Amino acid sequence: MSVRLRFAPSPTGYLHVGGARTALFNWLYARRHGGVFVLRIEDTDVARSSDEMVGGILEGLRWLGLDWDEGPEVDGPHGPYFQSARLDKYRAAAEQLLASGQAVRDEGAIRFTVPEGRTAFTDIVHGPIAFENEHIEPFVILRSDGHPTYHLSVVVDDIDMRITHVVRGDDHISNTPKQVLLYEALGAPTPAFAHVPLIMGPDKKRLSKRHGATSVTEYAKLGYLPDAMVNFLALLGWSPGKGDQEIFSRDELIAAFTLDGISGGNAVFNTEKLDWFNHHYLQQLTDDALRSAIEPLLGAGTPKDPAWWAGVLGLLRPRAKRLTEYVDQLQPFLRGPAEYDAAAVAKHLSAPGVVEHLTALRGVYEATGPFDEATLEAALRALAETRGVKAGTLIHATRIAMTGRMVSPGLFEMLVLLGRPVVVERMDGLIEFLGRG
Ligand code: GLU
Repeated sequence: MSVRLRFAPSPTGYLHVGGARTALFNWLYARRHGGVFVLRIEDTDVARSSDEMVGGILEGLRWLGLDWDEGPEVDGPHGPYFQSARLDKYRAAAEQLLASGQAVRDEGAIRFTVPEGRTAFTDIVHGPIAFENEHIEPFVILRSDGHPTYHLSVVVDDIDMRITHVVRGDDHISNTPKQVLLYEALGAPTPAFAHVPLIMGPDKKRLSKRHGATSVTEYAKLGYLPDAMVNFLALLGWSPGKGDQEIFSRDELIAAFTLDGISGGNAVFNTEKLDWFNHHYLQQLTDDALRSAIEPLLGAGTPKDPAWWAGVLGLLRPRAKRLTEYVDQLQPFLRGPAEYDAAAVAKHLSAPGVVEHLTALRGVYEATGPFDEATLEAALRALAETRGVKAGTLIHATRIAMTGRMVSPGLFEMLVLLGRPVVVERMDGLIEFLGRG
């Protein structure tokens, strides 16, 4: 029998990293076993659902590359399914339970009658779980307005879509006994359940806005690559059992994925780890691919010369961990400083004599040749020695002249890439600025 899994988000919020990981685990398991991955939008709570959220969820899943397999032709040939288009099915199931005496109508709503006994299931992650039915309140399955509650719609759909494995957040464990009772009342076999522990912030509290970005689309905007996010999320609470290996391609993840490898303990979302993955995947990109990823973020007026790109990317690659860092660190190569950072000026340019030292260095850089790293560095150090100042003084001043800031990629490599005329012009700019002060 082929496996069938689903991701069933409620469009009452964006695609949170926790939801994305749930989707990923379902997708990996379906792909591992050549099964089916269904996307089902649980939008029966009309007041709290919105098209905007649906759009954000689809965008997030597409960005991650988690493709879904079947459904009515809605947004592409494979669905997703929308529960709001399936209300008849839930009403029919409620009527069926009413007719078989397993539900009662009260004040317009239809309420499930909880039988006596206990309800047990074996969770793949947490092991055997049992609830005494006397602790389960008779619960509403169809509201008086004809809309199903979550418990009814989720079970009716999981039966109808022949879902074999329900993989979802462990905040749903307490909902599971009610759902198991509904499967039984509707005469259907229960699927296997795997409840995945929550994702925590570094302070061990449930991951939330307080910890920074939480939606997948925000991470896309921050300059993370989908492959890095997928690799990072896959290892958040799941262990492939392959020793120290952490870098896994999608195919490797698919080949290694098991539900048994999901840990029962909460996973901690560590942004530095995500950055580490992202740096790795950025390093794997060719210059052309990296350039195509960066260019849309830079806007118009970007140089087209491949040699220019090779030089600049070569300089930035070792350090940049996000696409947005490339964008930021590329600025000095595109234009001179719009302003000089006040803290940088105060820290490095306020000592007496700095303008004179900088002017002297400008004279050297205008004349000295060849304009390469070794020559520029040696010339700066020799001048510092002659003038009795630290080389750092000249280095800081030159960096501020080029970038307006205190930090930049390697100064001498940058000077070479900028070229002599630009270097001299920017030194003049800072000299003039300091002279005015
Ligand atoms: N729609 C539910 C949610 O977003 C998930 C239901 C399920 O996976 O069973 O929390």
